[in-house]
Parts: sequence; structure tokens; C-alpha cells
Amino acid sequence: MNALAEQYVKLSLHLGQHDPLFVDAYYGPAEWQEQAKSSPKSLEAIIGEAQELQTKLDQTPRAIFIHRQLGSIVARAKMAQGHVFPFDEESKAIYDVVAPHRPDSFYADTIRQLEPMLPGSGTLAERYDAYRNQFVIPADKVDDAFRLAIERAIAKTKHHIELPSHESFRLEYVRNEVWSAYNWYQGNAVSLIQINLDLPITVDRAVGLACHEGYPGHHVYNALLETHLARGKGWVEYTLCPLYSSLALISEGTAEYGVELCMPHDERLAFEKDVLYPAAGLDPVKAEEFRRVLNLMGNLGYAGNDAGREYLDGRRSKQETIDWLVEYTLSSPQRAEQRIRFMEAHRSYIVTYNVGEDMVRDYVHRHASNEVERWKVFANLLSTPQVPSNLLI
Ligand SMILES: [Zn+2]
Repeated sequence: MNALAEQYVKLSLHLGQHDPLFVDAYYGPAEWQEQAKSSPKSLEAIIGEAQELQTKLDQTPRAIFIHRQLGSIVARAKMAQGHVFPFDEESKAIYDVVAPHRPDSFYADTIRQLEPMLPGSGTLAERYDAYRNQFVIPADKVDDAFRLAIERAIAKTKHHIELPSHESFRLEYVRNEVWSAYNWYQGNAVSLIQINLDLPITVDRAVGLACHEGYPGHHVYNALLETHLARGKGWVEYTLCPLYSSLALISEGTAEYGVELCMPHDERLAFEKDVLYPAAGLDPVKAEEFRRVLNLMGNLGYAGNDAGREYLDGRRSKQETIDWLVEYTLSSPQRAEQRIRFMEAHRSYIVTYNVGEDMVRDYVHRHASNEVERWKVFANLLSTPQVPSNLLI
């Protein structure tokens, strides 16, 4: 089995030569990376070898994981050859899921409920923008607020999950990126977390980013995979995190669900009101109302998937997609354009966040009846071989 795992890792590194974002993190043998660079394989060879390797794998959880990852490799290699999959077919082939289709009326219902909560003049998207601006953390206070949020997230996570004693993260502030934050996992239980200061960071995002990128999200996931599987069992396939693969669905899904696991609604509201608003120099009097608005905005989460599907499948033009996003997600036109750039760059990756979150939540709630158990089930997801279809069981 170790030999098959090694072939999977090498094929991933070879694909990385054609698909530069494919390998998001790798801390396995450096010579394999060198080999992939010095003696490249054609996309056709990568597809053929991945498919052949799939036939050699049995039904153990470890083998099922590698089999699924190879499916992602085949799909991404075909895309690098120029093949364009329909959106749903692509998300199924790479991430093992198809996002639900929602009618416009579903979003229109939520928009109607938001209308009276967003005072002022102009379009509803403009009113939402103006409303939200009241809650933007001033640039010179972002670091204070973020550090307070991450401190709380670390304390909560450590109470429930045993982390490697040497784990740590570095924090950097950057600009000119399509994402709002990123975790670059470095290996040896160290993460580099970057936050993009170009996008205004509202006070609620401090907890969201601290949990998603750090604890119990990406940093914890990578550190646990490394500790329990890559080092603990010597399973080399976990020294590699391919971005466009089913692993990403679990990674983004656990990172998103990790926010509410770590900070359930009332606890989060109290923490924001008592700690984060004062640290950001904001008046907490509207904290509760803002949380209600954000909860309603959460209903619009799947709209991005629907917009991406219509746009990338060619049924709506760029301008029509911008207009649709403004109407149904209350994005500003600039933010809508930025979302389109993200869709163009990462295509069906956009479904990993919300479809992943809902799958992880349903799974955890089905297998646990109280907070302590929920953390246990969650920690197990982060430390064992998983494929998205496992989450449906
Ligand atoms: Zn993420």
C-alpha cells in the first residue's frame, strides 16, 4: 500500500507541473518534487497512470481516499488538456459533490426579509454596503481584533482537541490577492496565515477568519493529518494537500463548520459585543441586529454557486452575472466582479465552502448529541482518511 500511496503523491507532483495551483502544500521527500520537475510527464501519461493505479486499490479507508484523490487528478489533468466540464460534472469529478440548484425565488424571499432591516436610500445592495460599513474594523485595529479572536479560538479548540505541543502559526497582512485570507501550511505543525487588507474586514470576520484559517479550521486540520497520519502512521499521501481535490471539500467544510462549533451563536455574539467591538473601537449597541442581518445573509450563501454555474456554463454573460450577484447577494458591483475573478480562477472550487459546511454539519449533528461529542466527531474527521461520500453515512 505504501508503494501505491507513493505513486499517487508523485502523480500529484507531476500534475503540479502543468497545473501550478494544484499542489497547495507538500512536505514529503524533496527529491520527488525535484524528479517531477526534471523529468516531467505528459498530461496523457498522468491520466493513464492515475486510472491504472485506481484499479489496484482495495476497499480500506486509506485506499478509498487515494482512489478518490486520483479521480480529482484525472479531472484536473483533462481540464489542463483543455477539456471544459459542465459545472456540476466538474464539481462531482473533483470534489465528489453536486451543489443544490435553488430558484431565484428562494433568494428573493430572504432579500424581502432584509429590506426593512437596511435603512437609507439607493439600491438594496448600496444600502447593505453602507450598513455594513459601520462595522468595518479600522485598519490599525485589525491586528488587535484578530489576535483576540484567535486567542479565544485556540483556547476553545485546545479544550476539546489535543494538538501537537510544537504547533504554531505566523500571521501576515498582504494586499492584491483574490482571496480574503489564506492558510499556507508549512509542515511540522506550522501555518502561515495571510490576511488580505484590501478587502474591508467587518468585525464579525475576526471570529470567522480566526476559526476558518486557524483553530479549529485549516491549521488544526493540517496539523492533525500530519501528526496522526503522515507521521503517526507513515502515510506519505498526507504530506500533500492538493487544492483541487476532494480533500479540499473536507478542508473547507470543516473550516467553515468549525466557526459555529467553536463559537455557537450566543457565545459568539457575547464575545463580539464584550471584546471585539471595544477592541475595534466600534459601538456594540447594534451588535445583535448586525448578527440578525448576517444570519439572513447566510441564506444567500448558495447564490454564489448558482451564479458560478450559470456563468461558467455560458448561460449568463459576465455583465448579467454581475447584475444577478448584486441583486441576489447584495454584493457591490466591484465585489461581484471580484467574485467572478475568483470563479474564473478556481471554477467549481466555490462549492467546497458551503456544500462542505452543510455536509460536515449534518454529519456531526447526526453522530453527536451534545457539544463534547460534537468536538469528538469533528476531531475524528480531521484525523482519519475521509472522502466526501463518507459524510453522507
Ligand atoms: Zn479555506
